[in-house]
Amino acid sequence: MTTRLLIVGPQGSGKGTQGVRIAEAFGIPAISTGDVFRGAVADGSPLGQQVKAIIESGNLVPDELTSAVVRDRLSQADAAEGFLLDGFPRNIAQVASLDDFLEGRDESLDAVIELDVPRDESIARLSQRAAEQGRTDDTEEVIANRLAIYERETAPILDVYRTRGIVDRIDGVGGLDEITERIVAALEARGLLRPAAA
Ligand code: AMP
Repeated sequence: MTTRLLIVGPQGSGKGTQGVRIAEAFGIPAISTGDVFRGAVADGSPLGQQVKAIIESGNLVPDELTSAVVRDRLSQADAAEGFLLDGFPRNIAQVASLDDFLEGRDESLDAVIELDVPRDESIARLSQRAAEQGRTDDTEEVIANRLAIYERETAPILDVYRTRGIVDRIDGVGGLDEITERIVAALEARGLLRPAAA
């Protein structure tokens, strides 16, 4: 069976970590646009050169460029049986772009996982990650910008998906395993089953 998922949450909600865990459990690739862009910057590729300054400021990469990157990635063979998107779509225009692409393939998202974490908690986690990983977009000023963009542009996409009845809101505070279990339980309640353990 195919499983097409999206995970949404503010920076510092743990969506990257949970996304990878959920993708693994369902045997699908986790596709993080942030990781794709950071990889491109690290490689110094033309895409990386194009997006480096934007990422470092915490602003959004232009929609057309981002959508093209995602279409390309979703067209690869390993995404044929499903995928988990992390970090895309991030605004209403990107929702429309993803809808177009999936409709063209007669596909749709099965579920959207909303990871719910209070603002204070995400800021505390981001500051900790800044200290541990030294990401150039984890400085205090850039964090504030990224959270503001999340609230202004990204949170509204959840309303769109809510009207489709596919959003599972998950409490993102707790132990890592506990949160993974909450997500898996919500997806299973939708009839999305993990492949049988080998
Ligand atoms: P993330 O790791 O998801 O927080 O992404 C890191 C950075 O990559 C963001 O602050 C943006 O600059 C860029 N980025 C990631 N995903 C997108 C997207 N869907 N649209 C525009 N920019 C993005």
